[in-house]
Amino acid sequence: MIPFYLSELARKAQGTLSGEDIEVASVTTDSRNCPPGSLFIALKGEKFDAHDFLEKAVLSGAAALGVSLGGNFSVPCVKCADTLRLLGLAGLLVREKCPAKIGAVTGSCGKTTVKEMAYSILKQGFNAMCTNGNFNNDVGVPLTLLRLDEKLDYAIIEQGASHKEDIKRTSEFVQADAAVITNVGQAHIEGFGSAYGVYKGKSEILDSVLARGGIGIVPSCSQWIDEWKKDYKEAFLQGKMLTFGYNDDDFVKVSEVKSSSQEVSFILTAKGQSEQIKLNLLGKHNAQNAAAAAALCLALGCDFKYIKPGLENTSSVKGRLQVKNFAGFTLIDDAYNASFNAVLSGIDTLSSFAGFKVMVFGDMGELGDEAVSLHEKVGLYAKNKINLLLCLGPLSRHSVEKAGSIARHFDSHDALAAFLKDEVLKRHDNAVILVKGSHAMRMDLITDKLIALS
Ligand code: ATP
Ligand code: MG
Repeated sequence: MIPFYLSELARKAQGTLSGEDIEVASVTTDSRNCPPGSLFIALKGEKFDAHDFLEKAVLSGAAALGVSLGGNFSVPCVKCADTLRLLGLAGLLVREKCPAKIGAVTGSCGKTTVKEMAYSILKQGFNAMCTNGNFNNDVGVPLTLLRLDEKLDYAIIEQGASHKEDIKRTSEFVQADAAVITNVGQAHIEGFGSAYGVYKGKSEILDSVLARGGIGIVPSCSQWIDEWKKDYKEAFLQGKMLTFGYNDDDFVKVSEVKSSSQEVSFILTAKGQSEQIKLNLLGKHNAQNAAAAAALCLALGCDFKYIKPGLENTSSVKGRLQVKNFAGFTLIDDAYNASFNAVLSGIDTLSSFAGFKVMVFGDMGELGDEAVSLHEKVGLYAKNKINLLLCLGPLSRHSVEKAGSIARHFDSHDALAAFLKDEVLKRHDNAVILVKGSHAMRMDLITDKLIALS
């Protein structure tokens, strides 16, 4: 982290500083892990209040505190009404001191994948860093910014959103030079109110990046492309809004996309140059993700020569379409989470495999009024593409209804796992099993049970 003085933070937060104006070299929100000389910021959640642990934080090494409540403290203290915002502003302070160019990634799905691809491209030739894992919310984004240092050339930051203004808030701290929206799909409709609400929510990242003279990047194959062209007409004319996709006039274009059970290959074209690319990742949607990542890196000023080696060296993320071969069956582990578009792309990927194709599907979450119809669509989509659809959770009953004879519903993880063991693995020696469902459905319990059977 790039150090800053407490007075700088207090000024930014329009808060007060009590005690000595010391320079801090790290910031933490975990009272159990306060490096010596760190600033501990006490966050308040629905079920916890870190103000209960201020003394513990000091004992464990904190040299300063960030709080919203008064009191007498043995160390210097920055007080501000909203400590979550204080954390974000600490991230912004460091971001403003960092010379790196910053690329931001948001979208309904593919954020982590695009972030990893862009990072892999940039690290071919530069000092680069990116968000760890999925640290993409109000806490994760500032903590990521607090990892920035003076030596970095580039950083790629993932920004998630499930409600209006989530992206607006984190964008204020990220201050990106270029930002890409991977796609706008049917995720978190509950929080955004409608599909248009999702469009507006994701587009907050464009408003922020364009306001500071940066570049916005969107997918030309999106159903929202006309809306973007209308809402950001001037920016398109000035070359500040760019597109990626399958068209000749896209800033980055992918063509001849071939997806197999081993790899995805395609030709990527940008700035008058083309490369044949083979990814170690599955699913043809990853060609599109590659275009998004390439567009972000090029917009940040990265040379085209780093695109191919960077993309070809990107590896898959845990629990995200990871293929694991076992004696007698293949597991496609996509248990981490499920949004509607990702479920469809998962079915496409499964259907590219030879063998007996089984999808284990747990309910998708946060879909509001669309929940029933989107679960029905999954059933219809799976019907002619795979051999067996095994479902868990009340909503997926609607998928079973639409998928007809290939589908079964189960009341528990145990019952589903027993069926996999007795009716799938014992009868088919070439089963390919895709496991997918929302995080809350704990589909990882199914992958664990499958792995134990291998
Ligand atoms: P989260 O909101 O959980 O952070 P994310 O946006 O970071 O998700 P990834 O982790 O990259 O997304 O991918 C999540 C799932 O979406 C995976 O199952 C992946 O296969 C699928 N996916 C990734 N990119 C796309 C895409 N462009 N279109 C459809 N599905 C995709
Ligand atoms: Mg993610």
